[in-house]
Amino acid sequence: MRGVVMHAPGDVRVQEREDPTIVHPTDAVIRLAATCVCGSDLWPYRGIDAVDGPAPMGHEYAGVVEEVGGAVTSVRPGQFVVGSFFASDNTCEICRAGYQSSCVHRESLGALGAQAERLRVPLADGTLVATPGMPDDTMVPSLLAASDVLGTGWFGAVAAQAGPGRTVAVVGDGAVGLMAVLAAKRLGAERIIAMSRHESRQQLAIEYGATDIVTERGDEGVARVLEATDGLGAHSVIEAVGTQESMTQAIGATRPGGHVGHVGVSHDVSLDGRRLFFSHVHLHGGPAPVRRYLPELIDLIWNGRIDPGRVFDLTLPLDRAPEAYRAMDERRAVKALLRV
Ligand SMILES: [Zn+2]
Repeated sequence: MRGVVMHAPGDVRVQEREDPTIVHPTDAVIRLAATCVCGSDLWPYRGIDAVDGPAPMGHEYAGVVEEVGGAVTSVRPGQFVVGSFFASDNTCEICRAGYQSSCVHRESLGALGAQAERLRVPLADGTLVATPGMPDDTMVPSLLAASDVLGTGWFGAVAAQAGPGRTVAVVGDGAVGLMAVLAAKRLGAERIIAMSRHESRQQLAIEYGATDIVTERGDEGVARVLEATDGLGAHSVIEAVGTQESMTQAIGATRPGGHVGHVGVSHDVSLDGRRLFFSHVHLHGGPAPVRRYLPELIDLIWNGRIDPGRVFDLTLPLDRAPEAYRAMDERRAVKALLRV
């Protein structure tokens, strides 16, 4: 089969890879309908994370089950399914508490490489959620978004306790930040401040429910949020970047007693303990337990209540994945979908 492999920073290739097969009786093999490039794929692409190459790439997927192992009971061949970037049993104590991305049996789908024609999904019963029927092509991007960016933005909004009566600020205008805006709106937030300097992203944020746009960053960005909230700060702030600047901005923009939901993968962030102590903010985040939200998100998409698929502003065939990486690296695209 064809699949994306990263050989070195800036060097991704679409090449022949071995076809996945059932290895454990709890596995499923799916044929992907679509996959995509994640903002986190850019860390190794830019040489910030080491490339342990040649490495198969991709961890976002939606598609049709082709084959299941003997122990799989909840999905069957022919069903359209969505899963998260961590496989989870969905039965251990951590999973049952809603933290499937820290499942005691978790396995990374990233290591298996979802930017490919087919994918082996471990722990299929716990990981995959079937849609009510076969989606038409126009719904596939939204279902694919549920696999990571929507679920991650949603967790950020929940972790930040976005809800009725709350002012929510979102740091980061990448796909996860935009999905966090959608989630905050859906969770009933009264006011949503999107922090973005890019006009096309601001526009999408407004369409997804942002009420205010702040273009400044750092201390100035914090000052704008304080001005907009009677000097108090937002109740809920979603951090969707993962840098020192964005995390500092998120904590600074949160009012005492407020909540930060941090879902940007942390890169060299260190927090000043004394500042944190006196800030009085709650911090919660980490790799999103997307699996917790999948049934609800699939239902919202299936019934046309949300349209997260619009976050994909570039669609290319799998064979043109290198172009998709370049476009995202150069910030010409928010998120690139790869048709398989
Ligand atoms: Zn578990």
